[in-house]
Amino acid sequence: MLASRLQGIPPTIFSEMSALAVRTQSVNLGQGFPDVDGPPDVIARAVAALESGLNQYAPGPGVPALRQAVARHQQRHYGLDLDPDSEVVVTTGCTEGIAAALLGLVDPGDEVVVLEPYYDSYTAMIQMAGGVRRPVTLRGPDFRLDVDELRAAVTPRARFLLLNSPHNPTGTVLTRAELQAVADVAIEHDLVVITDEVYEHLVYDGHEHVPLATLPGMFERTLSLSSVGKSYSFTGWKVGWATGPAALVGAVLAAKQWLTFTSGSPLQPAVAFALDEEPDFPSRLAADLQQRRDLLCSGLAAVGLDVRVPEGTYFATTDIGRLGWKDGLSFCLALPERAGVVAIPTQGFHDSDAGDQLVRWAFCKQPDVIEDGLRRLAAADLSA
Ligand code: GLN
Repeated sequence: MLASRLQGIPPTIFSEMSALAVRTQSVNLGQGFPDVDGPPDVIARAVAALESGLNQYAPGPGVPALRQAVARHQQRHYGLDLDPDSEVVVTTGCTEGIAAALLGLVDPGDEVVVLEPYYDSYTAMIQMAGGVRRPVTLRGPDFRLDVDELRAAVTPRARFLLLNSPHNPTGTVLTRAELQAVADVAIEHDLVVITDEVYEHLVYDGHEHVPLATLPGMFERTLSLSSVGKSYSFTGWKVGWATGPAALVGAVLAAKQWLTFTSGSPLQPAVAFALDEEPDFPSRLAADLQQRRDLLCSGLAAVGLDVRVPEGTYFATTDIGRLGWKDGLSFCLALPERAGVVAIPTQGFHDSDAGDQLVRWAFCKQPDVIEDGLRRLAAADLSA
């Protein structure tokens, strides 16, 4: 019993693989969520909000203190000046931001150019909005943007570009030059760009996250999405935001009011506190994650996997071809039994066959958990 707008969209692989991890008592290196919470003083703020009567509906666009804190965050990190009343809206995680942006902006038949591998909610929401996806493949081993392929994907029906950098699952952080190429294409073809920047602070080795909205001529055509989840290790809080010109933010709000009406009120002042009073937490987290990235990547290489060391995000991508496997889903379904470990096959995030042998591993876990996973992999027969 499914409406046509949901036909052909498989259940999200993340929930499926996390359930498999629980069922098989495997080390879960699949779904990206940390196993240590964010700052205790931020949690204390949320508790205080719950106990001090902030338990009724928030205003539609979000609690003013959070909208103001988001505007200050965009100014502090990127030099962007936003009006917190018209250019910021709070969403229930970035996932709702993606949904509301696509439902609020895309008309049936509009083409949405999207990087492949794509995050699974993009394709689901493009389809639910009646849009048509036009993938541009980031190909291994380096997973860089091919600008010619981007240009070729833009047809006269293209109206939107949905851009994710730092990119899940590949870990690519688009360079300023790549972003400039995206900006050139967007301006030339009058595209609106929706950017998913949830890993904005989780970049390694001195790589820099550059919001597309900061490039010349781009603010007025860019809707930027982010959230507290990854930056502050509160993925379960589901607090995100959309920022950009009032017309684009207004479209998000127009759809959002019919999705969740407003987002949960007690967590919003706590997130405002995090952004204002714990501004250095995300960079400390990134420094720590970089070490865990290295631990995971060297261990995966040691068991015979071709690893791409990511520039950002929670994830490392491997090619399992060398172990004789033809497809990542079979590998990931066999892995709990063979090794007691769960990872994510990313072939479902492609229209092309470029991802058939790609598997994603999360390193946002405590070092002893990563080590346990690696020990299990080292002890197992991983060949096809
Ligand atoms: N963003 C997380 C990941 O990529 C998962 C979030 C979700 O399960 N929807 O693992």
